[in-house]
Amino acid sequence: MAEEAFDVVVVGSCMTDLVSQAPRLPKAGETIHGHKFFIGFGGKGANQCIQAARLGVKTAMVCKVGKDFFGDNYIQNFKDNGVHTDFVGQTSDAATGAASITVNDAGENAIVIVAGANMLLGREELQKALPAISRAKVLVCQLEISPQTSLEALRMARDNKAKTIFNPAPAIPDLDPDFYKVSDVFCCNESEAELLTGSSVTNLEEAHRAGQELLKRGCGSVIITLGPQGSVVLKAQESTSKHVPVPAVTAVDTTGAGDSFIGALAFYMANYSTMPLEEMARRANQVAAVSVQAVGTQTSYPFRRNLPAELF
Ligand code: ATP
Repeated sequence: MAEEAFDVVVVGSCMTDLVSQAPRLPKAGETIHGHKFFIGFGGKGANQCIQAARLGVKTAMVCKVGKDFFGDNYIQNFKDNGVHTDFVGQTSDAATGAASITVNDAGENAIVIVAGANMLLGREELQKALPAISRAKVLVCQLEISPQTSLEALRMARDNKAKTIFNPAPAIPDLDPDFYKVSDVFCCNESEAELLTGSSVTNLEEAHRAGQELLKRGCGSVIITLGPQGSVVLKAQESTSKHVPVPAVTAVDTTGAGDSFIGALAFYMANYSTMPLEEMARRANQVAAVSVQAVGTQTSYPFRRNLPAELF
């Protein structure tokens, strides 16, 4: 196989969202009628990869899906978005990751996630993807696959001088300290920062403090996203912590906003290597702010053609 070079490689998860809207959540043993059902593409890894691809970089996804309808469908979704799929493995040993979501009329939800094939992504797939990882400009990982696989992918990228973004989501309390050392950018939201530092992160002041604590653990930079307040950016070589606000918008659905931000950040890191990180965060804020103005996860992610020219 010819060794292709990719701007952004994501090693992470794919999940199919099975969403039912119903007047209320069913009780144990109960069957109720809902009013609407739809299938959505999700999973943090895939979301981030697709947002980066939609902004116009060459992307590859390293992940595992089942040898089933949902797996086939997901591979087609990557292709439709221009994501390279040679490193998407299919297995008969588990089903494609799925999230069964019920949403009631009050907007509350009950969710069962079965990670399935995502947890079978391991060393073998990483070795197969090594030519892509070793030539990537930016590698992105999260924690919806085995943490060991994420850590190994980040190490491989670092050994080959690729820039790394690590998104510790969903957060785990006993995160291996090596994750900080292999992260050029350690990017999390408020609740993840809270869990990792053990301190509350409910305002800017606390976010700055949590960022400093995370930075001390050995990463190159820290970004904490703060929903409608934008993000804070801290760099190891500077003692300042900068707040990067986001323009006020009318949010209709913030699901997947964090993944839109990280996909956009990967795009800027791959394309504009000399741009200051605060400027990348300012632009990623604006991309994510567009995503919250439409319903759904990947369905709400903007394409380059829908964004103002000043973001490029
Ligand atoms: P999710 O878990 O829903 O994917 P998250 O909690 O990981 O999201 P947030 O910090 O809520 O991530 O949002 C990520 C980014 O999206 C923010 O830094 C900001 O740029 C943008 N954003 C989120 N909510 C809003 C909002 N209401 N208005 C404008 N921008 C927003």
